[in-house]
Amino acid sequence: MPRIFIPITSIKEGQISITGEKARYLSSVLRCKKGDELIVFDGRGNCLRTKILRSDRREVIVETLEKFTCDTESPIDIFLAQGLLKGEKMDMVIQKVTELGVKEIIPVITERSQLRETKKVARWRKITGESSRQSGRSIIPLVHEPMYFSDCLSLLATRHASLSLKGLIFYEEGGIKISEAIQKITIHDTGYTIQDKYIMHHVSCILNPASLPIYLLIGPEGGFTREEVTIAEEKGFIVTSLGKRILRAETAAISAITLVQFLLGDLG
Ligand code: SAM
Repeated sequence: MPRIFIPITSIKEGQISITGEKARYLSSVLRCKKGDELIVFDGRGNCLRTKILRSDRREVIVETLEKFTCDTESPIDIFLAQGLLKGEKMDMVIQKVTELGVKEIIPVITERSQLRETKKVARWRKITGESSRQSGRSIIPLVHEPMYFSDCLSLLATRHASLSLKGLIFYEEGGIKISEAIQKITIHDTGYTIQDKYIMHHVSCILNPASLPIYLLIGPEGGFTREEVTIAEEKGFIVTSLGKRILRAETAAISAITLVQFLLGDLG
């Protein structure tokens, strides 16, 4: 059944009017017509099953049949701090990590960033909306405005001062295996082994889905400097390796998130 994102402000019980690009997409691309059903989601976990009353390029009018909470989200709150990448690479990282379930994305300006500023944040936010729709997610991850590395670390440290900072900085010139790093985070935090945590995690995530915020730092094309890695380590980040081969940043971001989710039992 087709899905479309409509901001919560426009969602009201009864009838919803969908206009503009979304109306054209539904009527011309998906060829939705009167009588078809459509899932409308607000990007905050609410979904509506609706029926199309009218459909043309200018406007699609639907009536709500049923409201339900669609929870397809990962129970692990992963925040990705990604060194700014040039060209399409950042678009790709944002699209793929949204599909995977990341909760927030912080574009980071580091010592070796080839880009010191960008005007692409609106574009990236559009990519997360489209990628959330396509992957059937119930929320749309937040894309922050770009910030400097030190500001990013301060933000993460202040936001979760109450929780031990649970972060991995990925460094191709050193670091421990990702399975050991995850083990360190969970044991440090709860005293349980990763196996216990695996079981506990499933229980705790039903009880408290936000029980595991994890921050992942991936560098830009030129990588992190040794000094940046040291600063992050001093703030509690674990220097982590993704193996002996040097991955492109976009490969590293996708692999790191997939491995963390798998090790913590999210991907089955
Ligand atoms: N310094 C690298 C070089 O000499 O080509 C460039 C950095 S790499 C292209 C981009 C980022 O991906 C790194 O900053 C790191 O965060 C991550 N990365 C790539 N390979 C990795 C590995 N084997 N272990 C850990 N992180 C890795």
